[in-house]
Amino acid sequence: MKLNSTSLSASILAGAALLAMPMHAADEQYASWPTYNGSDLELTVDSQSTRFALWSPEADAVRLFLFDTDRNTPATETINMTRADHGLWRATVDRPLYGKFYTFSICHRGQWLAQTPGVWAKAVGTNGQRAAIIDFATTNPEGWENDRGPVVNSINDVILYEMHHRDFSMHTSSGIAHKGKFLALTEHATTNNYGDATGIDHLVELGITHVHILPSYDYNSVDEANLQLNQYNWGYDPFNYNAPEGSYSTDPADPACRINQMKQMVMSLHQAGIGVVMDVVYNHTSLSDDSNFSLTAPGYYYRHREDGSYSDASGCGNETASERQQMRDYIVNSVVYWATEYHIDGFRFDLMAIHDVETMNQVVAALHKVNPSIFVYGEGWTAGDSPLPVEQRALKENVSLMQGVAVFSDDIRDGVKGHYSRADDRGFATGKPGNEETVKIGIVAATNHPQVNFALGNTSRIPYASSPQMVINYVSCHDDLMLTDKLAASMPGSSEEQRQRAARLAQTIVFTSQGTPFMFAGEELFRNKCGVHNTYNSPDSVNAINWDLKHSNADQFNYYRQLIRLRRAHPAFRMTSAEDIARNIVFDDIKTPNLISYAIRNNANGDEWREIRLVFNGSEETQTVKIPKGDWIVVARDGQLNPDGLDTTRGGQLEVAPTSALILARVK
Ligand code: CA
Repeated sequence: MKLNSTSLSASILAGAALLAMPMHAADEQYASWPTYNGSDLELTVDSQSTRFALWSPEADAVRLFLFDTDRNTPATETINMTRADHGLWRATVDRPLYGKFYTFSICHRGQWLAQTPGVWAKAVGTNGQRAAIIDFATTNPEGWENDRGPVVNSINDVILYEMHHRDFSMHTSSGIAHKGKFLALTEHATTNNYGDATGIDHLVELGITHVHILPSYDYNSVDEANLQLNQYNWGYDPFNYNAPEGSYSTDPADPACRINQMKQMVMSLHQAGIGVVMDVVYNHTSLSDDSNFSLTAPGYYYRHREDGSYSDASGCGNETASERQQMRDYIVNSVVYWATEYHIDGFRFDLMAIHDVETMNQVVAALHKVNPSIFVYGEGWTAGDSPLPVEQRALKENVSLMQGVAVFSDDIRDGVKGHYSRADDRGFATGKPGNEETVKIGIVAATNHPQVNFALGNTSRIPYASSPQMVINYVSCHDDLMLTDKLAASMPGSSEEQRQRAARLAQTIVFTSQGTPFMFAGEELFRNKCGVHNTYNSPDSVNAINWDLKHSNADQFNYYRQLIRLRRAHPAFRMTSAEDIARNIVFDDIKTPNLISYAIRNNANGDEWREIRLVFNGSEETQTVKIPKGDWIVVARDGQLNPDGLDTTRGGQLEVAPTSALILARVK
């Protein structure tokens, strides 16, 4: 039902009966709404004028409020906006309003809704309540116009390091001045109490190529007006999608500050050769009826159940509707905005399968027009059922329909270390038999391989990836127990040394597998999170990385560093097609539980090494494998690893120590 002015008057008279009507319309009615994809949505300002344009096709009337400050002051001016075409409402002020703040309020079915900064606020004040009018040119750090991220030819060349701003710098041992802030990543020559590098210098030393920052758009849960309370949240509660989070800046009340400081962070990382991936959460909003979406176009941006309630594939109270044109364009334009204004190098989509395949394909196409190095990956699942048909969902199983999109491999994750939520469950690397085929699925990046029987997979039963560029390999991330805690929970009675060996084996499998490796910040120091499963609002005492562990766990750190060196030096671990993987990877026929042995042959992907032999022993016993005679370099053995070689061997019957990897390579 589309309201016109006549039915509106009748509706206002209908009063209470009208208010009982569901907020949403049927899908086909939303499809008839006019849409608008112009770049002037919400705000355009220049030296002559300030022009506002709000998309709200069903509003009866729209008001614009202007303010002198970011909160707690009355409006200095209220302007009635004028209905325009494409579902827009427009207003123009004949002067530049730099330094002012604004909100909108729409009249919907006779009721004035709460004020909102709109859905396209690019600058906001404290807690994102009011949008700000600023000159973006003034937010650019010096040299910004020449800032470039790393060139990426294949996502498989990338090494991802997932981090939260507070985890990274809050601990006193970080030696970082701007704790918990964007600026932490601009500080060089910081050290722990033993003189080991921390912060950005540590990242360079470790050798990762990209940081993946947890949500850094303006989210809802942390009160930016009370930063002294040191509140912690992951940030999966989006509020303003197109402005940075204020608590990561030194002054949330100054709208330009958070923008400038996030740009400083990006530029600093770029100067260190490191790219920046943003975690984006377009699948749901923190609020439902009171979200900026609902306050501008009630109902439109969300999916609903038959009874009119919000459907909830996010498990967070609502889910957005990417299949509707204005929402699809919104997601595409928003990531393009971050890529252009903030020089973001990649995007990680939270609960990506809530979005539809077509939207993800449009996201990739639009981003590649900005910069062909940009890559996209996401969680190929939902957290609940959705009205979106399964075949349209951006699921792991549908990833082959999305060239340029990668999905997280829960196959390798759970196969290697055990089930993500059953804490005591073990995996291949911790001695549980029956995960061998699932780990092989991970090794070949879930591509079709003549020796991998997908029917025996514990998680996926089909080779869902048509290319290794579609798979992200990992054993640990911010969710659930991080690897250190998972090992402690599943290996009762073990020593820390045994658990560190298990971590090394697990990550060796990840970092030598085809696909793209991903690690969680601080694992290289064997830090833990006190055994807490989901630390989304746990205090810094649980979440912050203790950088002094770099001293006590120096051997662990060095193993990770060498493992990353190995991967970066050898393209054989980064083959670019399913055909290459099927041709060059040959598994040995082994029936022993918790033992996998395979070869990467034929100078794969141009590697200087003609053949690489990898043997993973996840059992607690020494195993023996037969290696062909030859001049082999020992790259990894018994918990040690060095891509330049630890030793040499002629092959034959070789022992593989418990819970360890044996890696051999030969040039001839
Ligand atoms: Ca916020």
